[in-house]
Parts: sequence; C-alpha cells; structure tokens
Amino acid sequence: DLGSSLRGTLDKLRGKSRISEEDIEEIVKEIQRSLLSADVDVSLVMELSDNIKERALEEEPPAGTPARDFVLRIVYEELVGLIGDSTELPLEEQTILLAGLQGSGKTTSSAKMAWWFSTKGLRPAVIQTDTFRPGAYQQAKEMCERAEVDFYGNPDNDDPVEIARNGLEETSDADVHIVDTAGRHALEDDLIDEIEDIEGVVQPDTSLLVLDAAIGQGAKDQAQQFDESIGIDGVVITKIDGTAKGGGALTAVDQTDSSIAFLGTGEEVQDIERFEPDGFISRLLGMGDLGQLAERVERAMEQTQVEEDDWDPEDMLQGSFTLHDMQKQMEAMNNMGPLDQVMDMIPGFGGGIKDQLPDDAMDVTQDRMRKFSVIMDSMTEAEKEYPKAIGASQIERIARGSGTSEEDVRELLQQYKMMEKTIKQFQGMGSDKEMQRMMKQMQ
Ligand code: GDP
Ligand code: MG
Repeated sequence: DLGSSLRGTLDKLRGKSRISEEDIEEIVKEIQRSLLSADVDVSLVMELSDNIKERALEEEPPAGTPARDFVLRIVYEELVGLIGDSTELPLEEQTILLAGLQGSGKTTSSAKMAWWFSTKGLRPAVIQTDTFRPGAYQQAKEMCERAEVDFYGNPDNDDPVEIARNGLEETSDADVHIVDTAGRHALEDDLIDEIEDIEGVVQPDTSLLVLDAAIGQGAKDQAQQFDESIGIDGVVITKIDGTAKGGGALTAVDQTDSSIAFLGTGEEVQDIERFEPDGFISRLLGMGDLGQLAERVERAMEQTQVEEDDWDPEDMLQGSFTLHDMQKQMEAMNNMGPLDQVMDMIPGFGGGIKDQLPDDAMDVTQDRMRKFSVIMDSMTEAEKEYPKAIGASQIERIARGSGTSEEDVRELLQQYKMMEKTIKQFQGMGSDKEMQRMMKQMQ
C-alpha cells in the first residue's frame, strides 16, 4: 500500500526538527510513486515534486514546527494549488454544456447535476441531444424522472443542434439548463464538429468535461481537444466510487487551466458531490487520513501563529500575503490610516501603480472591516494562512459560523485577492529602503 509507505517515510521524520536533503528526496519519491499510480501525468508529477523539493529546502520551518508537519504542509499546499477549488457555479440562471467520450458518464451526470441544482432551490432542466447512441433518449428521460427534474429530448429528430435549440425553448421555465451531448468511442472529427455546433446554439455559461476516474494518460489529449473546440471551464469526474483514483482529472484540470466541479460517486441520481480538494488529495496520495494530515498542518499553523503574534509588516514584503496579514493590516489601519494614504506617502508610488488598481481595492471602510473581522473569527488558522483552499463548503460553514452571508464571505475573499495583488506589486519594489521604513511604521 503506497499510502502506508508514504506515511512510513513521513513518520521517520517524527521528532526531527531539521530535514536533510535525503529526507526530502525520499518523501518526494514516495509522493511521486503515489501520484503516478493514481494516473497523474508524468510531467505534472515532476513539476510538483520539483516545487515541493525546492520549497522544503529553501523555506525556513517556523521555529518549533516539527519537520514532518512542515513538509506535509508544503505537499498539501502544492497539491491544493494545482487542483484548486471547485469550479465556481453560481446558484442562478445558467446553461451548462457537458462534453466527453461515450461511457464517461455525461448522461448520468446531467441528471445528477440537475438533481443537485434542484436541492439548491433552482429549477433545472436536462436537454438530451444524443442522437448517436440508441437508447440515449430513454436513459436520460428515466434518470430525469428519478431526479424529478424537467427533461427535453426528441427521439424522432436526428439533428442534435435542432434538438438543442428546441430544448432551450421548450424548457424556458427552468433556471438551469443542462445540455447533454453524444460521445464517441474515440475523439473523432464529427464528434468535435457536432459539439462545436451545439455549443454555438446553446452558448453555455459553463462547459464541463466529463471524465471517468479511470482515465489515465489519455486525459491530456481529450482535455486539449475539447478545450480547443468549445473551451472547458471545469471537469466532472465520474465513478470515483470505483478503485481508480482520478489522477487523470488532474491532468485535464492542468491542461485546460480549469478546476473540478463535481464528483460522481455511484449510479443513482443522488450520487453526486461537489468537489472538495481535501478528500481528493488524500485519495491521490493514498493516505486515507488526510483529515488527520490537514489537522496536523493546522496544528503546525497554530503553533506558528502563536510565535508570530508580533506581526511584522515587513513579512508581507517577503512571504506570501495571507488573510492573517490582512487581518493585521486592518488593525494597523486604525493607527496609520487607509492603505491608499499609506501608499501616497511612499515616494514614486502615489500616481503609478495605485491608479491601475480597481477603485475599491483599498476601500475597507469601518463597517466592512468590522464584518470582515467577524468572518475571519470563524475561519481556521489554516484557512487564514492559505485562503486558496477555501472552497464552497468552507464558505458555507464560515458564513454560518459568523452569522453572515456567503456573499459577505466571498466579498472578503475578493477584497483579500485585490490586496494580495497590491502587496505583490509592493513586493516588486521590495528592495526600496524607504518603503520598508514606511511599512515598518504601520506597526
Ligand atoms: P455517457 O455515455 O457519457 O452519457 O455515460 P453514461 O451516463 O451513460 O454512463 C455510462 C455508465 O457509467 C452507466 O452504466 C452509468 O451507470 C455509469 N456511471 C456513470 N457515472 C457513474 C458513477 O459516478 N459511478 C458509477 N459506479 N457508475 C457510473
Ligand atoms: Mg449519454
């Protein structure tokens, strides 16, 4: 079992506070083995392991953090950075197009997704355009009946584009239109032409590529072809209830620069989950206890936090800008004034970079600050330290915990992103002594 050998290697680090280059080599090799056996693309595995190695060697473990936790945190962050958050799917009117090869699970996923949207209070409809596979109409119709969602298809019409057009009209009462398409056994020109034509008529807000978790290295070609023809915004991985680990999906996500939207977890219409990076990473690494891993990472973060409580604004110029920094930044503003005024005081800064930023990039009013502060109190230290890992379900939890709305939480994350961008520009001028002095004064 690969997971246990990775765990074994990691356990050897227990008690150590410094990691040798050999230790890191060994861990990286284990991680490579796990990922390759999960069908992650070779070049992707290499890229990942290079990053992990580089960071583990270069970054200074926070004082008091065990080496093992430190490495786990890097591995986790690199994987989260690659896999990303689940594909954004607003709970509002929209059209989604599903693409993929025959048997990948498109029809099943269309009914499942429709069911999922219906549980969110929306009215979905599935439009079935597969005129290629005998029985496709009946299969889709039955699944939609089970999901209790609107359905349109026409077994007497053999023009998928016409069916798509009629389907949109006939189901105009629905909010969410999910357009199922035909697949082929392999990527063929007529399949690509057909889906391009359907895409032209449907004008989807989101196009999802449906992939069987068992897809191996073939994911790259498929992802590339579908991305070139219709533009892929996200991936649905099906049959994750089987033995395959779904590493091919990672390739597809990387290739299309997109993210994972849903996981198919069985044959029933309710067998669908919104993607969450944590569980998926644990599966990829073959470590059944990523929860434990995440906890350990979090504990390490908390330890780090205690030590770093005397926050130094200069840190922002060096490391990455976190929500923790933003919180401190907001506190600092009480003493120093808004960030845009601070920027005005820095020579050569006033008119330049600042003007290129969106108007409200620096606008953190007292009210918003108070609200943000309440929201951040409901976040874990790990979330504050690595906001990229905050996904839809975390947003839901944080909103609930802080008595705010998901909208508010998203707004905070938006604000964070803008500030991070600004800080990055600061960092570009990081050697400027005068600016460092100014930053220092913000304490
Ligand atoms: P399509 O050709 O892309 O439309 O694929 P289908 O939706 O017809 O699915 C092909 C087969 O895979 C069917 O037998 C489905 O029941 C099965 N299937 C789809 N999704 C899942 C899943 O998440 N788990 C399991 N176990 N089977 C699935
Ligand atoms: Mg189908």
